[in-house]
Amino acid sequence: MSKFAEPMTRLIDELKKLPGIGNKSAQRLAFHILRSSADDADALASAVRDVKANLHLCSICNNITDVDPCVYCSSPTRNQKIVCVVEEPTNIAAVEKTRHFNGVYHVLHGSLSPLHGVGPEQLRIENLITRVGGGEIEEVILATNPTVEGEATATYLAQQLKRQGVMVTRIAMGIPVGSDIEYTDEVTMLKAMEGRREM
Ligand SMILES: [Zn+2]
Repeated sequence: MSKFAEPMTRLIDELKKLPGIGNKSAQRLAFHILRSSADDADALASAVRDVKANLHLCSICNNITDVDPCVYCSSPTRNQKIVCVVEEPTNIAAVEKTRHFNGVYHVLHGSLSPLHGVGPEQLRIENLITRVGGGEIEEVILATNPTVEGEATATYLAQQLKRQGVMVTRIAMGIPVGSDIEYTDEVTMLKAMEGRREM
């Protein structure tokens, strides 16, 4: 038998599904929500609903957006001929904080991992190939993570893209191997972008 009332147990169970939230944290969050005002609780619930109802993927770059094309793809001041390929939408913020990249993005939504059953078909690679095939793109910067999966993804993409005659570069590994570019400080990220090499 559960030690909490049913609605509380249900909230704790839902919170536990979030990444990095264990049983203890879920209980703490649930009690925080219980003690908060009805307005705050409503705001949280509606923010969760809106994120699912109003956000979708950009039809060009697969970034998460409320307008299509996204702010980067539709920007007249950004260089639409340089595409930076990242694994996740959150990685865009890591590149943006260098303030030295003025191109656009392509989000793969993952990395190749044969062991976990993630092949090229599971990633958003096809519309990158089509995009580059249009002939307008001059450089593709591969900014996948410096992990085994990220490297495998970069190598695969380099092979596919070079066939199309586009310049393909890989960010330099100022970023520690095995880490995630999301947690990289702006100086390291900037060095990594500056030191990119052709693949
Ligand atoms: Zn876009």
